[in-house]
Amino acid sequence: MAMAAPRLSASPIPRKPLFLPTHSHSFPLSRLSIRPTTVRPSVSAAATSAFEVGQAPLSVTPSKALPFRVGHGFDLHRLEPGYPLIIGGIDIPHDKGCEAHSDGDVLLHCVVDAILGALGLPDIGQIFPDNDPKWKGAPSSVFIKEAVKLMHEAGYELGNLDATLILQRPKVSPHKEAIKANLSALLGADPAVVNLKAKTHEKVDSLGENRSIAAHTVVLLMRK
Ligand SMILES: [Zn+2]
Repeated sequence: MAMAAPRLSASPIPRKPLFLPTHSHSFPLSRLSIRPTTVRPSVSAAATSAFEVGQAPLSVTPSKALPFRVGHGFDLHRLEPGYPLIIGGIDIPHDKGCEAHSDGDVLLHCVVDAILGALGLPDIGQIFPDNDPKWKGAPSSVFIKEAVKLMHEAGYELGNLDATLILQRPKVSPHKEAIKANLSALLGADPAVVNLKAKTHEKVDSLGENRSIAAHTVVLLMRK
């Protein structure tokens, strides 16, 4: 008897076509002007100086109006007693948390860096400098929202995101759906395009000894 070919059903395919060739040709190049060297140390300044929408800078080359842009983010924080452990905006019960200038959200920080990287912008530390009291204790959702704003101003939207948390303890699985739902909401994205994985570090090094927590994120941005 003939067998049906196996089909993947776990990952819903985005309803929107992945590639629209006409977009890359018809999109006005003047909408994208990436000027990393002019980013200033504040959200509003970064937003206005990193991109100039609607003007016609002569420095933009066709290669910058890519239909897709990929970005990678990495972050690591030391775990210390007496701090909350915030992952993806969710407060996770644990005997240690992240000692950091902001809320030390390792996942949101690396997601921000992945988006900024895809846009060809400087890292989170340059956009939100930790010597600026403005960001002391700031929830990292502020940084995510700013990165998403920059993404839209550059003419892109999230294609999909894949993140991996690395920590020995506590177990992430009971909190995974809450983290994923909150991250999707912060990104303004369909949860179907946001993926979260978690793994231990086999009890070796600081990650495996519950002295630190790390995360990697890869994002694919698509031309709107
Ligand atoms: Zn961080």
